[in-house]
Amino acid sequence: MPGFREKVYAMEKSDLASIRLSRSGQKPRVLALANQKGGVGKTTTAINLGTALAAIGERVLIIDLDPQGNASTGLGIDQKSRTVSTYDIMTGEAKLADAIHVTAVPRLSVSPSTLDLLGLELEIANDRDRAHKLKKAIASLHVTQMLAGEEGFTYVLVDCPPSLNLLTINAMAAADAVVVPLQCEFFALEGLSQLLKTVDQVRESLNPGLSIHGIVLTMFDARNNLCSQVVDDVRAFMGTKVYDTVIPRNVRVSEAPSHGKPVLLYDLKSTGAQAYLRLASEVIQRERALQAA
Ligand code: ADP
Ligand code: MG
Repeated sequence: MPGFREKVYAMEKSDLASIRLSRSGQKPRVLALANQKGGVGKTTTAINLGTALAAIGERVLIIDLDPQGNASTGLGIDQKSRTVSTYDIMTGEAKLADAIHVTAVPRLSVSPSTLDLLGLELEIANDRDRAHKLKKAIASLHVTQMLAGEEGFTYVLVDCPPSLNLLTINAMAAADAVVVPLQCEFFALEGLSQLLKTVDQVRESLNPGLSIHGIVLTMFDARNNLCSQVVDDVRAFMGTKVYDTVIPRNVRVSEAPSHGKPVLLYDLKSTGAQAYLRLASEVIQRERALQAA
């Protein structure tokens, strides 16, 4: 898409490129988009945060780890072309490199999923390394790319299913950090402590470096007083873990997937697209702070 980055600059006043990390040759940062509740904005955030990071210049891979395959569909990958999918990666039948599709967004790729993933948990239940399948696949992709002299990915975003099952555990075991989308609704905080407990358990048993990257409030409706109350409550409970950027409820965001496009391509000027660009710059700023620490 020629001109896409230029358009982004025209829209975004802050100089996003200046805060971009230069990490050539380094392992990608792996972020798991997780929340066991469905419909809170995990997939929407994976697609649009991924697109915004790519627009800023990052090289991004989205791994669709939800059997529903919404991230794959939302990025325009039709069912028929998913001949190698995340399922084959998790069973070890194929290499991650062979599942990757490029998308309409420059620098954004996706490993699509299929309904086969539904059966995976039973199939690998007795494997000793069952929780580390995704971590191994990402590590081997990095090595392959480095040996081939290719530019690797700088970010891997894993779109988790709405459950704390073995798929989500694999994502957390593979991740540097978890990004938690929370919908601005009455029950937003319900289930959060269970999610945080799971992150603690994975940190203790599988992945000592795992942290919470941040909590992103989604589908905010300024006309709804309850939404503002939820934002205040979540900030009071989780403090600076909550990103400053709040994603508004925006019809363009929900229309975009049916066109197989991220909202940044579908309607860059929309409030949703602009919010995801701000979120991407916040994510990168947090990364820079972590690196400096
Ligand atoms: P999850 O992956 O957590 O199940 P989704 O990202 O699929 O959640 O979002 C659930 C539904 O809400 C989808 O139909 C999506 O299009 C819609 N949606 C998500 N974020 C927004 C938003 N900011 N504005 C409007 N609709 C949204
Ligand atoms: Mg989803």
